[in-house]
Amino acid sequence: MAEVHQTNVRVNQALRSRLPEVDFAKVSFGTVFTDHMFQADFVRGSWTDLQLLPYGPVQFEPALMALHYGQAIFEGMKAFRTVDNEVVLFRPRANFERFNISAERMCMPVTTEEVFMDGLMRLVDMDREWIPSLDNYSLYIRPFMYATDQFLGVRPSDTYRFSIICSPAGAYYSKPLRVKIESHFTRSARGGIGYAKAAANYGLSLLPTKLAQKEGFDQIIWTDAANHEFVEEAGTANFMFVINDALVTPPVKDTILKGITRDSVVTLARSWGMDVQEREVSVSELVEAMHSGRLQEAFAVGTAATVTHISEIGHEGKVYTLPAVEKREVAPKLLKTLNNIRCGKAEDEFGWLV
Ligand code: PMP
Repeated sequence: MAEVHQTNVRVNQALRSRLPEVDFAKVSFGTVFTDHMFQADFVRGSWTDLQLLPYGPVQFEPALMALHYGQAIFEGMKAFRTVDNEVVLFRPRANFERFNISAERMCMPVTTEEVFMDGLMRLVDMDREWIPSLDNYSLYIRPFMYATDQFLGVRPSDTYRFSIICSPAGAYYSKPLRVKIESHFTRSARGGIGYAKAAANYGLSLLPTKLAQKEGFDQIIWTDAANHEFVEEAGTANFMFVINDALVTPPVKDTILKGITRDSVVTLARSWGMDVQEREVSVSELVEAMHSGRLQEAFAVGTAATVTHISEIGHEGKVYTLPAVEKREVAPKLLKTLNNIRCGKAEDEFGWLV
């Protein structure tokens, strides 16, 4: 764990840890929270009242602005225990920077190093026993911020709360996904908030995803808002394709969340000498590549599942089956390398661990 700066943080330790009651093997993702949380309030233009306190309910009035006008953003990241029993975070600064980009877009205050980075380090250090020393287990970390003025009327809130909570995540065995190329609903338009990790982006995805699930798909491949002509990203991950031995992924722009896993995968593949193409991928190119067998692999990349194979892609009533997962080479190699770096089994040559 990196050195923690001395900051003015009030510490209120839980009287008793809930850890002995938790059976990690039975915990499903996002249901159990660690003993403590971090929080800070933005009042009169600055961050105050930084504290580590027992995880528990927060009180607010029904007029809380976040509930009415949607100023709410978050991040998702993980801490791991290495084979040497050290606790490490994977590229936390990238989350810090992306959080502040989201804040600016939603007209919210940016967090400082002291609030986001030091709060994170202290909280993870305090609850480090919650990261099991089992293969593939991790601690999922959720920093978030919401508007706290009690007011009805559309304007930016003057006050905000920043919090961090943590949830132990078990071994993630992701089954290959069946995905549907969406050609009716839109996640994000140019000039919109697609690149921000704003709660609103997830709220709007629920109905289209539920409808796709009724058709037997797991997830949606979002396409551009203008013509549904180009592939963008998934609900909680970025997409990658292997076409003619090249790794192809849509470029990041204002309609796509700039995934940290995406960036790590692109960096790794380039370092192996792979042809990596960050370029527009049209739906028709994809359909043609599936027909002709040029599409060798498709997979989703994100913090939660790291690298998840796609087994089938649906488009306008047709379902295309991709090459068998056992025959794929690129995604398994990427997954293994990322996992090995995160648990200290492979050299961290890009300095991703903190
Ligand atoms: N796109 C969206 C919409 C997401 O919610 C996520 C998950 N944060 C990603 C992509 C992947 O980003 P990351 O690799 O940073 O988790």
